[in-house]
Amino acid sequence: MAVDINNLPTTAEEVEVDYDNYADAQEFPPPIADGTWTFKPTKVEFDLKDGKNGHGSVLTAIASHDVFNDTGEKIGSITFDRFSDKTFERSNVKVSMMNDQLRAWGDRGRYASKQERAQAVKSHVDAGETFRAVSKREAYCGHKGTSFETKRSENGALISGAEPWNVKGSKIPAGESEVSCPVCHQNARVNARIDRRIPASA
Ligand SMILES: [Zn+2]
Repeated sequence: MAVDINNLPTTAEEVEVDYDNYADAQEFPPPIADGTWTFKPTKVEFDLKDGKNGHGSVLTAIASHDVFNDTGEKIGSITFDRFSDKTFERSNVKVSMMNDQLRAWGDRGRYASKQERAQAVKSHVDAGETFRAVSKREAYCGHKGTSFETKRSENGALISGAEPWNVKGSKIPAGESEVSCPVCHQNARVNARIDRRIPASA
């Protein structure tokens, strides 16, 4: 019998779902090996956040890519690849990860507004343009749910627990999808991340 959703109970119930440690039904494919690959974006979304310490707002692109080796064979994919327009200095020159990504597509455009930047990124993704980049595997553990769990104050100082642990690249044995955290001894998932986007000729 169908119910009218407007007549469903409105009283709060004791929560049985474990929201804090929710396990989504999904597959975690083994991370792609460290190396230089061809990336084909399959999706991009954008996020806008206020900058810290009075800096302007930051536009972040969150993309997924299929990854191919030099013979054109698909070796896996990368999700949650993030690149923002926040500027930082590289060799005393102001750059941004978003500009690195645009240059990896051979785009040397001087986009003045966040909308122009987002539209430029989206147009390359929508056109299915590939780019080259170096990926590295990494694992991270904030010791969640243990006595070592990292807790910080508003200004970032460690209040209790231990600093997060992380390990990158060749320090992770090949083919491992999880590594043991030496601090809390929980397993940390190994993820492949883009470490360096390679500029393409314009
Ligand atoms: Zn840990």
